[in-house]
Amino acid sequence: MSPVRLVILAILFYIAWRLVRGLAKGSPPSGRTGRQGDSRVQDVLVEDPVCHTLVPQHQALQLRRGGTTYYFCSEACRRRFGKMEDDKSAGETASRTGR
Ligand SMILES: [Zn+2]
Repeated sequence: MSPVRLVILAILFYIAWRLVRGLAKGSPPSGRTGRQGDSRVQDVLVEDPVCHTLVPQHQALQLRRGGTTYYFCSEACRRRFGKMEDDKSAGETASRTGR
């Protein structure tokens, strides 16, 4: 067997492997091209009012305050928001250092 044939075989094997992998995963690992006819519902991004991170709605933690629903990236942010709201309702008398 000549080395050229080995290289060709290797390339063919690589292409076949990629094809099989692509079929198994449903989409190629690289590239974010949105395929047409994708049955998945697009994620709605919501903004965390504490750290202003955009989070997919289904992943976000929710908190209802006065008829408004707020979304948070993490439990820590939700707790911080709760603290902020408590400070507000307390009349903002707390004089904190920083900022
Ligand atoms: Zn956050």
